Amino acid sequence: MNLFKGEFCTGCGLCVSESEQVIKMDWDEYGFLKPVTLNGYIPEEAMKVCPFNPEPEAAIADEDKLADIYLGTANRFDPGIGRFENTYIGYSRNDRSISSSGGIATYIFEQLLRSKTVDHLYIVKEMNGTYAYQLFSNVGDIQRISKTRYIPVTLEQLFVKIEHIEGKIAVSGVACFIKAIRLKQYYHPELNDKIHFLIGIICGGWKSRFFTDYLAQSSGIDGHYHGQEYRIKDVNSTASDYSFGAYDDKRAFYQLKMSRVGDMWGSGLFKSRACDFCTDVLTELADISLGDAWLPEYRPDGMGNSVIVTRTLLADRLIREGIEGNGLCVQPVDKNKIIESQRPSFSHRQDGVKFRMRMAKLQGHVLPYVRRRVLKPVSVFYGIVQLQRAITRGRSLKQWQAAPFSEVFNRKMSGALKRLRLVTKIYHRMRKLKRL
Ligand SMILES: Cc1cc2nc3c(=O)[nH]c(=O)nc-3n(C[C@H](O)[C@H](O)[C@H](O)COP(=O)(O)OP(=O)(O)OC[C@H]3O[C@@H](n4cnc5c(N)ncnc54)[C@H](O)[C@@H]3O)c2cc1C
Repeated sequence: MNLFKGEFCTGCGLCVSESEQVIKMDWDEYGFLKPVTLNGYIPEEAMKVCPFNPEPEAAIADEDKLADIYLGTANRFDPGIGRFENTYIGYSRNDRSISSSGGIATYIFEQLLRSKTVDHLYIVKEMNGTYAYQLFSNVGDIQRISKTRYIPVTLEQLFVKIEHIEGKIAVSGVACFIKAIRLKQYYHPELNDKIHFLIGIICGGWKSRFFTDYLAQSSGIDGHYHGQEYRIKDVNSTASDYSFGAYDDKRAFYQLKMSRVGDMWGSGLFKSRACDFCTDVLTELADISLGDAWLPEYRPDGMGNSVIVTRTLLADRLIREGIEGNGLCVQPVDKNKIIESQRPSFSHRQDGVKFRMRMAKLQGHVLPYVRRRVLKPVSVFYGIVQLQRAITRGRSLKQWQAAPFSEVFNRKMSGALKRLRLVTKIYHRMRKLKRL
């Protein structure tokens, strides 16, 4: 058996259902779920549903083309947001305390089940001490599915079993997973109604399992861990001042403020390389997109608030009814607020992608197809930041693979992280000077 060596894969697992059992998902040496092929290559049919396909069919080549097909009725368009109905910020009164940010995902899933709009959810839930996608239908237990999990999961089983699932399904997923589902629907239109609603989880990068190993060790756990929590809120502090926590073998719970391990997102530590070729910041192909309100006016609220982009009339109706019925404390906001809340992600994912493509081509890679309208030249200084980020990201995975010990990791990575901080500072200074 061969592990698919392509670096440009986040392990969504859609290819499995198109492979006549020559592919299954397994862990690679860097802690990502990847397709394993029995015959050493991914069949052409399977590549068609790959969100990182280098040669997609023209009609569905990118997020814009797919949005024309699946969200063609949306009233509005913005180059950053994609097709949409409305933009909001706020929280669910019942669900925010047990959720990652505003609890809107849990609220929407509950409404979909209660109104029998869908019969099942396909969401990420606890399984054998860790997390995996699972089918869920018990609305009375809805709060057990809350919170986002930053560990690799895969949709592999949904599409292997979907023929035997009675009724309609709602699915949550990050941008590349949602894109893969849309591609699957395109090639199998009978799934358009069956997969009835998509909740898009705005994603700043797909992390390797090493990320969780590192956090568990940094929290003080020596050995196995389970039941990890990625977003423990601090109501007495700011929204971004959350903690990681996990149980050790003796069921003692260890906690770690994320601020103690530094910037795990902007630095790209433990991130999949595929994410550097995804330009969909706001999960443009979902019915509704949800993320954190990383904005100065919402940050002081340690309970968290969600940014919300509705892209279909059904999604927009659910939000409006929630506001009217008082289940949601949510206000309409200008669309630019949503873009502002994810500004660093736009800068990296969209502004830097042309430069990263050029670098990867020089290394001889065949690259995922990237929509042309987002490609722009970068300044020399931003190019240097991009190079240092690439080095830091790649080294973090290799370093943990070679020596999975948090103290060694911190020591070995400190040079690369220092250089990254320095070049980023110089870039920001130069940008400020240029503006002046
Ligand atoms: C890898 C990753 C990176 C993220 N990066 C950003 C970012 O850069 N900026 C930002 O604003 N927000 C980011 N988020 C999203 C943010 O963490 C919240 O999940 C989002 O705001 C929804 O919050 P909520 O309170 O409405 O969700 P909740 O009400 O807590 O519900 C979350 C739902 O998502 C499901 N779920 C859990 N884990 C996953 C998963 N891995 N994939 C799919 N579904 C899952 C759960 O089953 C649950 O139904 C990221 C999430 C993930 C998983």
